[in-house]
Amino acid sequence: MQFRTRAIHVGQEHDPATGAVVKPIHLASTFVQPDSSMTAAYDYARTGNPTRHAFEKTLANLDGGTRALAFASGMAATHCATMLLTPGDEIVTGTDIYGGTWRLFNRVLTERGIVVTAVDTSDTAAVARTVGPRTKLLWVESPGNPLLSITDIAACAEIAHRAGALLACDATLTTPALSRPLQLGADIVMHSATKSIGGHSDLLGGALVVGDADLGTRLHWLQNATGAVMGPLEAFLCSRGLKTLELRVLAQSATALRLAEWLVSQPAVRKVHYPGLPSHPAHALAMRQMATGGTIVSFEAAGTVADARRVVESTRLFQLAVSLGAVESLIEIPAAMSHGSYAPEARRAVGIADGLIRLSVGLEAFEDLRDDLAAALSRA
Ligand SMILES: *Cc1c(COP(=O)(O)O)cnc(C)c1O
Repeated sequence: MQFRTRAIHVGQEHDPATGAVVKPIHLASTFVQPDSSMTAAYDYARTGNPTRHAFEKTLANLDGGTRALAFASGMAATHCATMLLTPGDEIVTGTDIYGGTWRLFNRVLTERGIVVTAVDTSDTAAVARTVGPRTKLLWVESPGNPLLSITDIAACAEIAHRAGALLACDATLTTPALSRPLQLGADIVMHSATKSIGGHSDLLGGALVVGDADLGTRLHWLQNATGAVMGPLEAFLCSRGLKTLELRVLAQSATALRLAEWLVSQPAVRKVHYPGLPSHPAHALAMRQMATGGTIVSFEAAGTVADARRVVESTRLFQLAVSLGAVESLIEIPAAMSHGSYAPEARRAVGIADGLIRLSVGLEAFEDLRDDLAAALSRA
């Protein structure tokens, strides 16, 4: 079956008790046991809940995995994956990554004995030089955030596996609708379901998806032991989000490409980052790994940082907010907002200019979004 058919039917069978075509939301925290052996399918909702399982089953299928685990947030999912490591182990991570991931790795895990080494993962040779015998986890994000760098996932999988490490891929920006890292050799796929999977800016959630059953069992053990599971209401909304995921992401990507092309032609714009543009340094690789260039565009406006701030503060349809991937378009300044948790020197070393502007392109009409940006750029 095709992706969008599976998104609607796998794990989402009708409710046999009532015939309801939409699965009920199971709020129960505990489940009656037929006997004291605790072998029933469900016992306590931290360990498992039918509404969460329905979402996990659909997502695992869409990502080409065998198991998905749903978490209270993307950061909870990322944190759970890092709990596979013990003090002295090393994470090699990209430089162009989500600000919260940077903070977890460099401010929380390093204080607990994990060694964190950052490398530009879009440079495969540099990754190969950096991954070593103590590396247990290679963590990549492709496209990167907010510069939309592209990392060769298949090459990174080979490098990680040669060193006996796992490759984890934060696939929040692509979602299984655009890219399936497990099929490229990744061991763990992480999603912030808060973004495109939920898709409507009305929930927090995260997920890990794996192909290897033993790894799935270990991660589920850690998830249950530490407790940051997704609630049933969020799981219901995520299942609903998956049903329209492909349609939304394809439509948003098409608008993002048109906006990127339009931005390139604007004298008030100095530089545009979008993997769907042939001028992107890794356009060919991006198009091999992704069905489209994605829904995020970033650009540097000509002029000062103050001018860039005026641009983001004067759009009307693009709302000034962090987050991404939802039906409504958002605009922000990564250096001050989504990536404010980076150390300023790290931000500059990576090339995140203070005046860089990031767009999350929603489902509004291209013409309206273009006119909104044109008006804001002319006001700056
Ligand atoms: C938002 C985001 C996260 C973190 O997810 P939360 O749901 O906010 O905890 C991780 N990675 C990327 C790329 C994100 O955009």
